Amino acid sequence: MSILDYLKDSTAHPSAEELHLAMKANHPRVSFGTVYRNLNILVEQGEAIRLESSRGRDRFDAQQPFHAHFRCDGCGKLYDLPLTPDRLAKEMTGKTGHEISGHNIEFYGICSSCNAKS
Ligand SMILES: [Zn+2]
Ligand SMILES: [Zn+2]
Repeated sequence: MSILDYLKDSTAHPSAEELHLAMKANHPRVSFGTVYRNLNILVEQGEAIRLESSRGRDRFDAQQPFHAHFRCDGCGKLYDLPLTPDRLAKEMTGKTGHEISGHNIEFYGICSSCNAKS
């Protein structure tokens, strides 16, 4: 199973480390460096996105269409949000003239299941 296939099937938004572990299940000798290099190529090609965050490890996602996320400060889980800001990006291009080629929108707070526990 390729990194891209794995990412497309997953809604867990794995980190590079988690992806490496998953790849090792099928290819025991694959190195972290190889996984990381291939991830970067996928990001450069626009097949996947890197969800950079100052609030934790970078995670990766290849679920299309690219969408906004919600990161829980309680459990650290990254949720998909039913928000695809393509129209907003177009609108911003119209308003500012900037050529927008992508977006990385992350909301954060406490998720509904953490909220239910407190
Ligand atoms: Zn939570
Ligand atoms: Zn996602």
